[in-house]
Amino acid sequence: MAHVITDDCIACGTCIDECPVGAISEGDIYKIDPDICTDCGTCVDVCPSEAIVEA
Ligand code: SF4
Ligand code: SF4
Repeated sequence: MAHVITDDCIACGTCIDECPVGAISEGDIYKIDPDICTDCGTCVDVCPSEAIVEA
C-alpha cells in the first residue's frame, strides 16, 4: 500500500519537501514512488487541493 497523487494535483510543490523519505517526485502531476512511501500521511495534510489519497 502507498499514498497516490490524483489528477487534482496543481503541481504547487508543497508536498515534496514534507515527505520524510523522499518518495515524491516532480511533474505536471507530482508522483509518489510506492516502493519508497511509508504511508505516514504527512503529505495528505499539507496538500492544498486534497490531491493525495490512500491507495
Ligand atoms: S505518505 Fe508519507 S512517505 Fe508517503 S509520500 Fe506522503 S509524506 Fe511521503
Ligand atoms: S501538495 Fe498537492 S497539489 Fe501540491 S504538488 Fe503535492 S500533490 Fe500536487
